[in-house]
Amino acid sequence: MTELLRVPGPQGAPPSSRAAVLDAIRVAGTISRVEITEVAGLTAATVSTTVRRLIEDGLVREAGRGESTGGKPRVLLELVPTSRYALGVHLDAEDVTYVLVDLGGAVVARLRRAQAVGDPQTVVDRMAATVRGLVESTEVAWDQVLGLGVVAPGPLSRRSQLVLTRPAMDAWGDFPLGPSLGEATGLPVVLDNDATAAAVGEHWGGGAGGSRAFAALYLATGIGSGAVIDGAPLRGVSSNAGEIGHVCVEADGPECWCGSRGCVEALAGPRSVVAAAEAAGFDLGGPGRGLSERFAALARAALGGDVLAANLLGRSARYVAIAAQTLVQVLDVDRLVLTGPAMAVAGSLYLPAVRQRLTTSQFARGDHDVDVVISSHAGEAAAVGAAALVLQGELVPPGGGLRIDVA
Ligand SMILES: [Zn+2]
Repeated sequence: MTELLRVPGPQGAPPSSRAAVLDAIRVAGTISRVEITEVAGLTAATVSTTVRRLIEDGLVREAGRGESTGGKPRVLLELVPTSRYALGVHLDAEDVTYVLVDLGGAVVARLRRAQAVGDPQTVVDRMAATVRGLVESTEVAWDQVLGLGVVAPGPLSRRSQLVLTRPAMDAWGDFPLGPSLGEATGLPVVLDNDATAAAVGEHWGGGAGGSRAFAALYLATGIGSGAVIDGAPLRGVSSNAGEIGHVCVEADGPECWCGSRGCVEALAGPRSVVAAAEAAGFDLGGPGRGLSERFAALARAALGGDVLAANLLGRSARYVAIAAQTLVQVLDVDRLVLTGPAMAVAGSLYLPAVRQRLTTSQFARGDHDVDVVISSHAGEAAAVGAAALVLQGELVPPGGGLRIDVA
């Protein structure tokens, strides 16, 4: 087994003509060869050869003719969404979400399992069996699967290729998750941070709304963010960019698990909101119930008119809005997607606070507005994003991050 850990710089390698042509077709939907030469900056001969190979490989097909611009109408090209697939796996402290996504970014199968606890090798073997079962439950052939994207809450470590070092996942220690999963499945494995993956998933699935600089604010058991600028995910030196949950907003605030004090996550994350509710006597089903379920119960109570629940979530939303404002001002984005499982259940409670703060306080508001929307797949955004990372790796120039190919 050969393990290769590639960590390209933020600019990545120059795009291959295959990747550039594929991405031009993906972005356009349908496009002619002549238009590809213009968009991708390639010669007509290169485009012609590359397209021919892509058609032979079944990734691209001809899709009729476009409108004539004087001469013979041009033949249009489009992706064949069912030609290739990618698996996405999201590991969280409580459960594992699996999705199988086609080349066009549509989810064709999904599954959720409570199995991230226990001996890491056992968990990896179970995950490998689960992804095989998921693919076998569809019409998709195993050799159409390009790879497996695995995402988890950070921090990522290039040294140990490990993505699971939060307190709830201490048992994973220095376990080499990527190589182990690659060996167990025989697939190339891509590891990344869940919030970055969620942003890539929005970019892939159209959630970016055409913005060339947008961010995703990701609320699960923790708070994170990802951003895609000019088509490339922002990663930083070690793929840990965007840890907006660990920005300090109260110098003398409560201790955070990260070692700091007064972090947004410590003050406003679902863990602290649930703890505050239970300390106030709120019955959310007891500690035997998972944190996300207890948070969802609180959100339902708030939406149902419970004043205490609404106050607790309103306080959290005010801090999350500060995080959103910080993110927008640091990155100068014009679109913010609220996503993650907590936003799937409580997005409507957070959205007004974030919108209001950005309307009144965003530094560049004189120049541009910031659209704030809730993701159309907030509950499984990280898993969809994990699969999108695989597709992104196949179709577009490498944009950095941890990519572990196991041959
Ligand atoms: Zn922190």
